[in-house]
Formats: sequence, structure tokens, C-alpha cells
Amino acid sequence: MIASRIPSETRPPRMEALARLPIFVALTGKRAIVSGGSAAAAWKAELLSAEGAKVDVYAEDPSEELIAVAAEAPHGAIAIHHRRWNVADFNEAQIAVAACEDDQAAEHFATAARAAGVPVNVIDKPAFCDFAFGAIVNRSPLVIGISTDGAAPVFGQAIRAKLEAMIPRGFVRWAESARHWRRAVQSSGLSFAGRRRFWQLFTAYAVTHPDREPTQSDFDAFLTRTRGVGKAVDEGSVTLVGAGPGDPELLTLRAVRALQSADVILFDDLVAPEILDFARREAKKMLVGKTGYGPSCKQDEINALMISLAKVGKRVVRLKGGDPMIFGRAGEEIAACRAAGIPVEAVPGITAAQGAASRLGVSLTHRRHARRLQYVTGHAEDGRLPSDLDWKSLADPSATTVVYMPKKTIGELSARAIARGLDSKTPAIAVVGATRPDEIIIAATVGEIAARLDEAAPVGPVIVLIGHVFAAGAAHSKHGTSGRSLEAPHHQFSPTAQMMGSPKNRTTKAAT
Ligand code: SAH
Repeated sequence: MIASRIPSETRPPRMEALARLPIFVALTGKRAIVSGGSAAAAWKAELLSAEGAKVDVYAEDPSEELIAVAAEAPHGAIAIHHRRWNVADFNEAQIAVAACEDDQAAEHFATAARAAGVPVNVIDKPAFCDFAFGAIVNRSPLVIGISTDGAAPVFGQAIRAKLEAMIPRGFVRWAESARHWRRAVQSSGLSFAGRRRFWQLFTAYAVTHPDREPTQSDFDAFLTRTRGVGKAVDEGSVTLVGAGPGDPELLTLRAVRALQSADVILFDDLVAPEILDFARREAKKMLVGKTGYGPSCKQDEINALMISLAKVGKRVVRLKGGDPMIFGRAGEEIAACRAAGIPVEAVPGITAAQGAASRLGVSLTHRRHARRLQYVTGHAEDGRLPSDLDWKSLADPSATTVVYMPKKTIGELSARAIARGLDSKTPAIAVVGATRPDEIIIAATVGEIAARLDEAAPVGPVIVLIGHVFAAGAAHSKHGTSGRSLEAPHHQFSPTAQMMGSPKNRTTKAAT
């Protein structure tokens, strides 16, 4: 008998240890002091001025860079005092930065700053710092700070370069207009859910039209649309979201967006835990089971729960392993929502077969060897091999077959396909936990795969892929086609190689 599982809310895990707390300091009109005349000190003076601080620089011998920066201060005024700093200079200062030759000078400065209650940074001397400057991506008012806690500033710079490329410049205008419109939205009479809907419409538009100049008519259109769907917004919705096979990098952007705006997430055992990290922390996360043979919630209970939550205005995400439309009972859930009048939408995911193929580095189709690709389930409603599989197709030598839920029945499935003419030497590969860190690949033939899988007795989800396309894939494995647990093929590309190629930016200096 299959035990029934009560849907249970899982408490979000406590936050993991944080190496640095990113805080964004407002310095406009405040006093900042900088000691030293070097180029590094000049760059810090520029940074502080850009944020609007009034910067006093104490330098007996200012460099050309410092003089140039002071002449063209980006925002707050930069004054150069041609002398050493003294204790009185810390009066009314909000922040203090020094470029020091040696540790003794650094200690002297840091001690004086701390005595005056002013947070201090000594450039490139973390031991004397109360805070660090991160690498910056500037789309003000949108600002991104990056820190590696001093572990790898170059890595931080590479990430900065990636983000620079990813985040369009036009976001400056949209973030600016958000600030401008904020008050009007607050006083628009929209409910909390309505206001959130407004900002979701705004964001969806900004993200897809970064280069457009935001106009008043955009604002009016968002407001009209929000009002037009106001009722539906408050009614809640259901989104079936594909979580992919495991690796969070395989989530679609839309899946991430759905996770970030969900109030409640109902997820399956198959969903890798890292995926849930993409959800808002405040979202309620409920495990609704479905391991195949272990305890699981009944489908009717899941449907009822989903609908009752949506009816009280929740944005429900039904998060499923792989693609929701493949062996995921999405059809039943969509029908139940429609019958209850709940708006329902699906976001596709990478199915286990695609995840496995990518990791194996094998194309599932081939112009000569595999003209058909078929996904079959090894698990009928009663847990046995489905009685109505098309054996002629399964015996087709020019097909690639992927068997989902094969654990109990792959032996019988293989034997029957062989009996119908499939060559028992046809390569077969079982992939356990495809794309996850603990992925296991077991390469054999269709005649032997069931025995190999039994020996390995894997605990994670398994698919079995059968077909001649795997002949080449099996050849580059360590043990040949009758091997046991094989390592995943190593990937050849190196993302850092490209990232490190980016031009050296002067903010390298600003890294901690
Ligand atoms: N919707 C899912 C399939 C759900 S059925 C998808 O598109 O992938 C459940 C079966 O999917 C499991 O029994 C297993 O056969 C397969 N499966 C799901 N995730 C897997 C993974 N990471 N590795 C191997 N098989 C997986």
C-alpha cells in the first residue's frame, strides 16, 4: 500500500554564514577624508565624490591623478590640503580612507579614525580596515556591489565584467523612473497586491525594453493594465514550473522569475534543493511528495491544495522536476485549475533526457542512426510495466529510446524489446541524478543494463537511454560498454579563460 503524505510546510533553512554584509552607505553632503596623494588615493577620492561626499584629501605631495580628479570632481567637491592629516581632521567625518606606505602608518591612521568613531579603510591593508570597497556595477540608482572577502579580487572583477555585459545601460533610466513614479503608485489607491502587480508589469517591460526611454504614457499604461486585471490579481493563480533535472543553471529565466514572485511553492521530491534558493525567502514552500514508490500526496489532494491557495489570492507555483509537461501529470493539474476558474500557465523546463544527453555529450538524434526519439514510462499506474507499450517502436534499431521511471521494470522492458527483435548488444546507459553533483553514469548494453542497475542500486532518480547513438559515447568512457559506474565526461570549456580576457579595469584596485 502506498502511504499517504500530508503536505507539509518546510521551514526555510537559516541563512548560511555570510563573509561580508553588503550595506549601501549614503554619503551625499557628508564629509569624507582621504589620506595620501597616490593614484590609489585619487581613485578613492573620486569614488567618494561620485557618491556625493565632500572629500577632504590630506596629501603633502599630491600626484597628477589626484590633482586632475580634484579639478573635475564627479559630484561632491574634492579639496586637497597640502599637509599630513591630524586628529582634528576626523571631526564630523563619516568615513575615512588612507593610502599608507607601511603598517605603522596604517595602524596610526586606523587607530585615530576608530578613536573618533569613524569607519576606516586602509587601501590594500585588510588588517586595518573596518569595511572594504567591492567591485561595482553602476546603473544608479541601481548599484551592485561585489565582494569576495579578499579571497579573490580578480574573480570579483570577472563577475563584475559579466554583470556589466548582462545588465543593460538602459536600466539606469528605468530605475530612475521607478524612483520618480514610486509616490504616484503609493497614492494610486491600488491594493498591496495591485501595487505589486504594477511593479511586476513595470519590471517585465523594463527588462524587455531596456533601451526605451520611459514615458508618462508607459506609466499610464501600466496603471490601466493593473487596474484592468486588478480582480484577477487578487484572485491568485497557478504556474506549473519546470525545475529542470537538478543543476540550477538549467532553470529558464522565466522559471526564476516565477519562483521570485510566488507566494507559495508546492514542490516534488525530485526538485533539487538548490532550486528553492531562487524563491523569495518569505515564500511558503511545501513538499508535496511523489517519489514513485515512497509516500506521496494523492494527486487529488495536491490539486485541491493548489486551487484553495489560489482562491485566497496566492500566486502558487507548482514546481516539478524536469519539464512539467513530461510525465508530470500536468494535464490533470491544468484541467483541475481550469475547472475551478483559476488562471493557469506553464513554464517549461529541461527534461531529464535532455539534461543527461548534455552531460553525456551525445546527440539523441543522428542523421543515420537515430531518426526517431521516444520517451516512454516504465511505470504504469499500478507500478508495473505499462501493458500497452508499442513494442515494434521499442525494437526499432534506428530509434533512441529514453525510459523514465525504469528502476523496477527495465529488465522486463529490455527483455521484451529484445524478444521483438532489438539487438541485445544495443548500447544502453543509465543516468542517475542527471546534471546533479552526484550524477552517476552506468554504461552497458540493453541486454545487461538491468543487472548493472540492480548492482548499483542507486538511490536517486534514474533514466535509461537506449540506442546506437550511445556507441560513440560509451567508447569514450573508461570501462567500455559493459562498464560499471563511470565518471561523467569532463567538460572541456573553461569559463574563466574567457572572463579573464576582459580588459583590466581600474576598479581592480578598488577590490578588497
Ligand atoms: N517531468 C520530469 C519527469 C518526471 S517522472 C522530467 O521532465 O524529467 C520521474 C522520473 O523522471 C524519474 O523516475 C526519473 O526516471 C526521471 N528523472 C527526473 N529527474 C531525473 C534526473 N535528474 N536524473 C535522472 N532521471 C531523472
